[in-house]
Amino acid sequence: MKQSKIEDVIIIGGGPVGMFSSYYAGLRNLSAHIIEALPTLGGQVAMLYPEKSVYDIGGIPGISGKKLIKHLKKQMNIFPPTVTLDCRVKSLDKVDNIFHVETTKGVFLARSILITTGQGSFTPRKLPLAHAQRYEGKNLYYYVKNLNDFKNRSVAILGGGDSAVEWALMLEQVASSVQLIHRREKFRAHEALVEALMHSSIKVLTPYVPFELKEQHQQLTGLTLKETRGDKMITTNFDALIVSYGFAYSNRELSDWGLEAKQGQLVVDSSMAASIEGVFGAGDVTTYKGKVKLIAVGFGEAPIAINAIASYLDPSIQTDAPRSSDLILRAQKGESQ
Ligand SMILES: Cc1cc2nc3c(=O)[nH]c(=O)nc-3n(C[C@H](O)[C@H](O)[C@H](O)COP(=O)(O)OP(=O)(O)OC[C@H]3O[C@@H](n4cnc5c(N)ncnc54)[C@H](O)[C@@H]3O)c2cc1C
Repeated sequence: MKQSKIEDVIIIGGGPVGMFSSYYAGLRNLSAHIIEALPTLGGQVAMLYPEKSVYDIGGIPGISGKKLIKHLKKQMNIFPPTVTLDCRVKSLDKVDNIFHVETTKGVFLARSILITTGQGSFTPRKLPLAHAQRYEGKNLYYYVKNLNDFKNRSVAILGGGDSAVEWALMLEQVASSVQLIHRREKFRAHEALVEALMHSSIKVLTPYVPFELKEQHQQLTGLTLKETRGDKMITTNFDALIVSYGFAYSNRELSDWGLEAKQGQLVVDSSMAASIEGVFGAGDVTTYKGKVKLIAVGFGEAPIAINAIASYLDPSIQTDAPRSSDLILRAQKGESQ
């Protein structure tokens, strides 16, 4: 296996919190290496809702997921980290105070570890109908990556949660028509979204479950729907089908790595330290009393973790965080803190 140089910190997971942590590590003159299982940075924001707007980050009245990740990349690259994409961390081993991180692309070494794996690797819950897989990458979608992919097309969406309703409302602006199909009369989505849905031109079909795909000349053209608790069948046609049944997350590896975890979440103390000395966590992956899984919370935990890492690596360094203006001036001059 290939071995790397020894970094100050290996950040496992390149979602928004891993990216911001990398920037903050740069501010504290720490070398960082981000290891990300997916082929791109940005985590859930980039993969699951690039077109959705986020309204609950301080100082930003509203920003699309795509733009937020673009800004995070720009900020992160002020202190460019080493980035290894498409690379899954398999195990962690601490030998003489150096962490050996075994991945699908070799072993990487670091003096500390920051885990920002979110809710773990995630895969969409698939449409449980025969031949569905055949149309993935054609006109059956599990994410809305680009609204323009649906421009002037008739779109059907399956699902009743926030994402399904948000996607329907966003697509209403570009698609020729939108139908939303849900197995219950009532939507699980947030009240304000349901209110907007009821005042939109979106055709709502409830309570129906997909029964069979309609195919013509090897093209997916529609669905046969069955009433959830009855026998009534209807058919519906579309150019594109979006399945929004949520995602299955897996974070089982934390306990395999020898770390204390509770229901797949990393147990941390108030300095974001995990149960192995030198391992820290930030973002959705962590758990403690009162934890809230939001980007703003992860952005707060990242500086706590990185400042704790700085003083773990050099105990003469104070944990009290210097101001960023001070840090950036010193980092630009190449002074250590
Ligand atoms: C539909 C939806 C809408 C949302 N809307 C909002 C909102 O409006 N506002 C808000 O604040 N939050 C929102 N959230 C929550 C927000 O996306 C998360 O809080 C945020 O993404 C957490 O960031 P993170 O970096 O901790 O984790 P993630 O974004 O989950 O990133 C973790 C990364 O770690 C990688 N990883 C996992 N395991 C490994 C491994 N073993 N090796 C290498 N890499 C690994 C994953 O591939 C992933 O890229 C929403 C979530 C969803 C699903």
